[in-house]
Amino acid sequence: MSRLKFSIHAEAVFSGARAAEFETLHGKVNTPVFMPVGTQATVKCQNVDTLRESGSTVLLANTYHLMLRPGAEVFEKFGGIHRFMNWDKPVLTDSGGYQIFSLPHARKMDEKGAQFQSYIDGRWFLLSPETSIAMQKAIGSDIMMVLDQCIPSTARRAEAEAAMELTHRWAIRSLAARGDSPQAMFGIVQGAAFPDLRARSASDITSLPFDGFAVGGLAVGETKEQREDLTEAATALLPRDRPRYLMGVGTPVDIIEAVHRGVDMFDCIIPTSLAQRGTAYTSIGRLHMRRGLYRLQDQPLDPACTCPTCSHYSRAYVHHLIKTGETLGWHLLGQHNLYFYHRMMGEIQASVVAGGFLDYYNEKREAWAHVDGDDEATIHPQPRPPRRMMLGDYEVLTAPQGFSSVRQCSSGEVMHSVSNPVEEARLLYIEQSHLGARLREGTAATERRPPVQFQPTFDEKTGGCRSVAAVPCVPELVVWDVGLGAATNAMAAVRCFEEALVTHTSGPLRPLQIVSFERDLDPLRLAIRHSARFPHLHHAAPSAILKQAHWTHASDLLQWTLREGDFLAKMESAARPDLIFYDPFSFKTDGPLWTLETFARIFRALSPGATALYTYSTSTSIRAALLWAGFYVGRGVPIGPKTETTVACTRPECLHVAGYPALPLLDRQWLERWERSGAKFPAGVSKDAQPEFEIRIRNHPQFGGETLNYD
Ligand SMILES: [Zn+2]
Repeated sequence: MSRLKFSIHAEAVFSGARAAEFETLHGKVNTPVFMPVGTQATVKCQNVDTLRESGSTVLLANTYHLMLRPGAEVFEKFGGIHRFMNWDKPVLTDSGGYQIFSLPHARKMDEKGAQFQSYIDGRWFLLSPETSIAMQKAIGSDIMMVLDQCIPSTARRAEAEAAMELTHRWAIRSLAARGDSPQAMFGIVQGAAFPDLRARSASDITSLPFDGFAVGGLAVGETKEQREDLTEAATALLPRDRPRYLMGVGTPVDIIEAVHRGVDMFDCIIPTSLAQRGTAYTSIGRLHMRRGLYRLQDQPLDPACTCPTCSHYSRAYVHHLIKTGETLGWHLLGQHNLYFYHRMMGEIQASVVAGGFLDYYNEKREAWAHVDGDDEATIHPQPRPPRRMMLGDYEVLTAPQGFSSVRQCSSGEVMHSVSNPVEEARLLYIEQSHLGARLREGTAATERRPPVQFQPTFDEKTGGCRSVAAVPCVPELVVWDVGLGAATNAMAAVRCFEEALVTHTSGPLRPLQIVSFERDLDPLRLAIRHSARFPHLHHAAPSAILKQAHWTHASDLLQWTLREGDFLAKMESAARPDLIFYDPFSFKTDGPLWTLETFARIFRALSPGATALYTYSTSTSIRAALLWAGFYVGRGVPIGPKTETTVACTRPECLHVAGYPALPLLDRQWLERWERSGAKFPAGVSKDAQPEFEIRIRNHPQFGGETLNYD
């Protein structure tokens, strides 16, 4: 004798669909029915009133989670979940088996049951047919599920057969554990994807006095087509006079396909979990409410919907709540999505009763294929945005002109934002510093030194230099690469060196040492991962830098070293540079690298050497800070939309390279403009310190003043 009074109102012709009802301890349920998932005795962001308004008639709760917290004794004290959560309609509890078997760690399994450790406090629990049913009795659900061994539908035959047989033995123990409790209990048919095992399981389980039957082990790894075939085969083996439940399914299309194959009951987290991701199911497709397109839209989510959300709130408001991460947004979208699901189930019931299910099915599976689709893009076709290429705080951006850059997500700042990064690196750092010419200065540099014993000799055959070149016989040129980023500047220097090595035949080349400073290697990792978009990385050096922080050119004439960490902490122990490519993030993002103190510290570290510094900044206050620190400052080449950039040096002659015009230093006209500028002082210059700061700038030797003592 069944504890659920199950009665069929109507059955569709040429379809397994049926409209029915069953009576539980807490009232009647019409089927086909969708059960919202209330894992922790609550449906995410809903209360019992909003659930009722959405049309919910039965909820699902998770035995496993409620067993760990709040624990059986709380439900015993409250006389069950209904009073505890103030829900007076039916509740179905799963057995906990799905959670235990889908977590492969921290459990021991045998005939008795599954032992597992609580993820909350590390306590050990035994989940056996007896303990699962005892917990479900404490919860006081209207429908309990037997404990089964849940395995993926893709499991191998031996494993599937063993799990099916164990599930059968546990089904008998579960029924015995229920005793004379008035709570209903469902059996579960297993058997993975093997039709003969499914048939045996159905025959075994349906021979037991269960009040309904579930099809288990689906929606865990099989394709949509396999699932539909297995569902059809399984329901065909289940008795007509008991409700049938397809666990964990699904999207609107999944549901209507399963109804067509004879299923009555469904549960799924989709409506509420998609709500938390900002997605709304509507009659015109799934809307992603994060999209800026909804910012000014005054209409409801779905013009065809009469739910509380659509009756009172605009798309613009929901968009705003989702963008700001407000939980009200999750609530409003969740309520609308549940309403959408329940209205769909109501329409299915009505169509079966009216004898029009097949028409409804054919019409809706078309329309809902769109609803299941990934946006209203299906209504207004447009190309899907490409998947974002991200790592940590960085993502790859590709400009309409085709070149790619790395962007820091938190600051929004793009590395080499104004033009093609490779082009920018070449113009701003390589050509402007005359790096190639400085490397070819080897001969001249040698002449100023004691006689040379070993000359590096380029080997035409191997493309490298003979080992004799390992002995540095001409002074090394040192470049500091401040802000390695995606290695654009460093690789531009490497290419420049390689070109010089091949084209320079009249004497020795200066050895080059590149020292890159970087705190965060994610931009380079990201760019290497998507190296098709970063052709400058098609070289052995960048990967070697990532792996061992060092790379040596085959000629031994080029050493590239990475100093990982804070630039200011690392710079003083690095070889003193001839050139600095100063390319950190801007003042807004990386303020400490643009302060007075920092430039003063760099200047001290360079003294008394001769160093030229190149940077993309054109800021008046940063130029003033460089002057204050002791640098001579000049105008650099234009880059993209910038009409100039900035160069600085410890001595004016560092900017001169034989055969090239000197870069112009800032002149008295600049000084006059600076005097009138609103951005005269760098950050950190107090009001009291401003007069002294002004005097120091005016008296800088570059403007004709006396040489200052910068100690
Ligand atoms: Zn709505």
